[in-house]
Amino acid sequence: MAASPATLTAAELELRQRVRAFLAETLPWGTFEPGLGMASEVNPQFSAALAERGWIGMAVPTRYGGRDAAAVDRFVVVEELLRWGAPVGHHWVADRQIAQVLLRYGTEDQKRWLLPRICKGELCFCIGMSEPDAGSDLASVRTRGVRDADGWRVSGVKVWTSNAMRADFMIALCRTGEGERHRGLSRFLIDMRSPGVTVKPIPYLDGSTDHFAEVVLDGVLVPDERVIGEIGQGWTQNAAELAFERSGPDRWISTFLLVQEFIREHPDLASSSQGGRLIGELAAQYWVLRRLSLAVARAIDAGRTPAAEAALIKEMGTRFEQDVVSSLRQLLDRELVYPLDQTPSLFERLLRRATLDAPSFTIRGGTNEILRSVAAKGLS
Ligand SMILES: Cc1cc2nc3c(=O)[nH]c(=O)nc-3n(C[C@H](O)[C@H](O)[C@H](O)COP(=O)(O)OP(=O)(O)OC[C@H]3O[C@@H](n4cnc5c(N)ncnc54)[C@H](O)[C@@H]3O)c2cc1C
Repeated sequence: MAASPATLTAAELELRQRVRAFLAETLPWGTFEPGLGMASEVNPQFSAALAERGWIGMAVPTRYGGRDAAAVDRFVVVEELLRWGAPVGHHWVADRQIAQVLLRYGTEDQKRWLLPRICKGELCFCIGMSEPDAGSDLASVRTRGVRDADGWRVSGVKVWTSNAMRADFMIALCRTGEGERHRGLSRFLIDMRSPGVTVKPIPYLDGSTDHFAEVVLDGVLVPDERVIGEIGQGWTQNAAELAFERSGPDRWISTFLLVQEFIREHPDLASSSQGGRLIGELAAQYWVLRRLSLAVARAIDAGRTPAAEAALIKEMGTRFEQDVVSSLRQLLDRELVYPLDQTPSLFERLLRRATLDAPSFTIRGGTNEILRSVAAKGLS
């Protein structure tokens, strides 16, 4: 009988144990403020410590500083980090997708220059896809790259760019050609400290300004050696990248900590018939999503690009993340209002945060309507 893709091998279980031990030692529970999924704190020191163990850029070949590991190994590490609310923000995008993009499309010089630094947890990347008039419909991006004697001059506006204020580089989707919408797109590696780059933070719902930004690109010079892959290949690259971006634990695990802390702080309610039923339902859904997500990681290891399956996981996973928040709030049956002299508990803080963040789960990385359409086309 073939083993289920969701069954971890002895080596994968051993890796999980090592990550758990590392977290317990480096970030003892109660000594830090856990975050919700990939949007958790940015902490370059933590990223460096993780990289020292070889847990960033794991799938990168050893000659570029990685470990030649499988997508499932990364899955195992990432699941543990997110379950712990670890501060993964600094290296998240580089580890999840940029390393893969460079491996697939980068030149040898780009690989030798950037991959070792990504694997050391040094680099923070941001993704420059969305624009004021191009979110779901990325083929209509207006940011334009114009040929110049020294390379390409890029001008336009990117929006909702997570971590733009602290990123070293942006991978920007730009229009470089006329004619067919999709074939006129290319991707550039933009140094965020280049002349002509202006980052304007966009206030988040709670007023904080360190989450995402509008990035104005005004005649930014991109030398030829910073073009990713070939000119005109941007759309194809983007589509391939989304399989990595959409199927991982970060798309269904963000609110896991809420359930854990709810059980810890409200044991009576959690074990009541209503609470028990809810937790049972959430656990069952969590388990199904985890199995699907692991199956996609195994498919990636087998050399496939399961874009439609990844879209389906993100659609179901992010709805699940939202359901966790709304069903716990319903069970508690109370407003998020506290007397000023009362310090909210960890569960209360996580619930507040999750209530603010939850609406974005089904928007960032592709809205649910778009994902349904990708899945329907790909699976039909
Ligand atoms: C927290 C957060 C972080 C983000 N980080 C980044 C980032 O780092 N980099 C980046 O590039 N972008 C980022 N985004 C932007 C995100 O990818 C876009 O918001 C998203 O793709 C939707 O685009 P839009 O906002 O332009 O909405 P629109 O595309 O205008 O969509 C509006 C509504 O119309 C629906 N709709 C649109 N087209 C169709 C269609 N064809 N069929 C059916 N329904 C449709 C959508 O589902 C949605 O409900 C982030 C967004 C959030 C919330």
